Amino acid sequence: MSKYAKVLVDIPVEELDQSFDYRVPEKCRDVIRIGQAVMVPFGPRKVTGFVIGLADETEVEEKKIREINRIIFTDTFFDENLLELFQWMAVYYKAKLINIIKTAVPAGVVSGQLKKKTVRIVKLNTEKDEIEEYIIEEGKKAYKQAEVLRILLKADKDYTAAELARLADTSASTIARLVEKGILKYEEIVQERRPVSGEDIKREGPHEANPWQQEVIAAIREQLDKGVHSTFLLHGVTGSGKTEVYLQVIDYALQKSLGAIVLVPEISLTPMMVRRFYSRFGDQIAILHSNLSAGERYDEWRRLKRGEARIAIGARSAVFAPVNNLGLIIIDEEHENTYKQGEYPYYHSREVALKRSKITGSTVILGSATPSLESYYLMRKGIFRLLELPERIKQNPLPPVELVDMREELKKGNTGIFSYQLQEAVRAALGRKEQTLVFLNRRGYANFLFCRECGQTIKCKHCDITLTYHASVDKLRCHYCDFTLNRPANCPHCGGNYLREYGHGTERIEEELKALFPGAVVARMDLDTTGRKGAHQEILEKMEKGEIDILVGTQMVAKGHDYPNIGVVGVVSADTMLNIPDFRAAERTFQLLTQVAGRTGRGDKSGRVIIQTYNPENYSIQAARNHDYKKFYQQEIENRKLFKYPPFSLLTNIIVRGEVEQQVIEAAMALDAFLQKYGKLILEILGPGEAPIAKLRNNYRWQLILKFRSYKERNYVLTKLREFLLEYGRKEVVYNIDVDPLMML
Ligand code: ADP
Ligand code: ZN
Repeated sequence: MSKYAKVLVDIPVEELDQSFDYRVPEKCRDVIRIGQAVMVPFGPRKVTGFVIGLADETEVEEKKIREINRIIFTDTFFDENLLELFQWMAVYYKAKLINIIKTAVPAGVVSGQLKKKTVRIVKLNTEKDEIEEYIIEEGKKAYKQAEVLRILLKADKDYTAAELARLADTSASTIARLVEKGILKYEEIVQERRPVSGEDIKREGPHEANPWQQEVIAAIREQLDKGVHSTFLLHGVTGSGKTEVYLQVIDYALQKSLGAIVLVPEISLTPMMVRRFYSRFGDQIAILHSNLSAGERYDEWRRLKRGEARIAIGARSAVFAPVNNLGLIIIDEEHENTYKQGEYPYYHSREVALKRSKITGSTVILGSATPSLESYYLMRKGIFRLLELPERIKQNPLPPVELVDMREELKKGNTGIFSYQLQEAVRAALGRKEQTLVFLNRRGYANFLFCRECGQTIKCKHCDITLTYHASVDKLRCHYCDFTLNRPANCPHCGGNYLREYGHGTERIEEELKALFPGAVVARMDLDTTGRKGAHQEILEKMEKGEIDILVGTQMVAKGHDYPNIGVVGVVSADTMLNIPDFRAAERTFQLLTQVAGRTGRGDKSGRVIIQTYNPENYSIQAARNHDYKKFYQQEIENRKLFKYPPFSLLTNIIVRGEVEQQVIEAAMALDAFLQKYGKLILEILGPGEAPIAKLRNNYRWQLILKFRSYKERNYVLTKLREFLLEYGRKEVVYNIDVDPLMML
């Protein structure tokens, strides 16, 4: 019984981010709940909103207060725990609460675009013996009608008119006639849209855990028994049985009536992976990811809400899944970038999961073969607890990694893309009827200059970031601090005159491979070839069936896939990753190379991994070659400390964009001037400068990178900044505040 409700209205006005009090109509007072969507009057219009509070009193004058028009759904979209999470996110990410809610609840539901799906089925409308009588009397001249009735009498499931007509080899009008006569009737029933039908997946029990797994599982179980928040960092090499651990601890959570969320990177949510979870838990699983239709997603969401499904598996946004009595959140491959939303609101699922688990007292497991530096640092500080699976299950050693020094190739006269060593390995694999993966990183976008003789690039002396080459003005520029340099004639490191622009496309590589190995089937997997829905899957299936000899691809091929017949993995150039203008370049290089190397030696075979590079002595490449995470961590954490990058500072990236360059520059300058006033609270302001992607979809882009010492100081400054922007921000430009940015392009 509540007389008043606080309603957050959905209005696209940036300044407006507060709730308003409304009177609850008498007849709704018993059913109104936090988390419901409602229709309310706002100015001259009616708008939708969410109930975020209930009260028996209000400070609004009685004659001024307006009344809720109606409750749109009696089902709630969030409970108080989730509301607390959303409110925290709004503050942390400096976003509007309404936008956070709209990101978190199933899209389209509130606007009314999404509905429960109903189908019209055909049912008997009279007693059985009456129908049998009808068949005997009319069956001779109305043969088709009789056939329809006979099918329905025997049926053990529901049919739509179309299905029934097909079975009886007749048309829908036959059924319509029977309905007219009152013998049959139509009935509307709700149909669940299910992305996976669990029926045809064989159920399987758990593997007997090996000693390492036993230890890990015991520690997590003990924590689940305590029922208070805690975070584990599960560091296990690829194939060490992490997923099996997830399955077993989820099973334990279920026994304790706790629900679970499993987050996986978008790309690894493959049918193979889904099948594995289904075979263990069947219909207790709900799948949430972006390849589902909006309707399927809504239905899976509802199954969780009703408690029919107890385990949510999905990509980034599944962190908001309405799992009842949540006890466990698992983030697989926790270091993956896809957990960060690349657009407003820029949230990171790991941060959100940690907060959610604190609110609900849940256990979090962050699993990875190459943990993010931030997570490993927090573990070292004693905030996360370390669990390790140091050995592969089948005792296959990790594959040896061969480094090819491309400077030496040049000396041997090989100016092509592929080293002799890689060519020879591919040829041998083809001879053994084994497959090859050729991996190319193309996410850098930005160009850079590098020296083919010494392999080095030119870095910013202030930021330790590779300078980006701008061909139009023939200059090098730092995208953190805007330091600019004319293009040097010779390499500043070795004096050589082989300074070149970098970059090969996947297409070119595919062509060269076809030319080198005329008999082989070469396929390519990148954004161009997988744009169409299902295309990605088709390529993977062909690969699985052995219909492809050599697969060329970008990031997509590196992750999660498990093919027993891969004999060779080749990395065209480790340097493209190493030189992207981002302080995480070394970390990404290490992660990706480790990941790529893990693609082979999975079955009974041991595979070859060949990495081509101009920087064989670089620590991230060396550590990947030796499968040595700890060594990499030690070196990298020193660098971060030296240049005050996370985890030794808190970053925020402010991007200003607009169609008129001059306006964008002025806006960025004005921002800088404002921020200077808070100089004491800010560790460092880098920029303003042009963003690495200086122009995107006709928008010029400038950025400022802020480093802070503490959450408190950051929050204070960003709150002031937001107020400033709302009041004085230019209408012609867009300001994006990216809190804890990951990709600073
Ligand atoms: P990860 O998630 O670390 O890559 P998985 O859990 O996928 O490792 O395990 C790798 C392979 O080993 C899978 O095929 C899995 O079914 C199998 N496996 C895992 N644990 C065991 C075990 N205790 N006994 C036998 N096989 C196991
Ligand atoms: Zn710089």
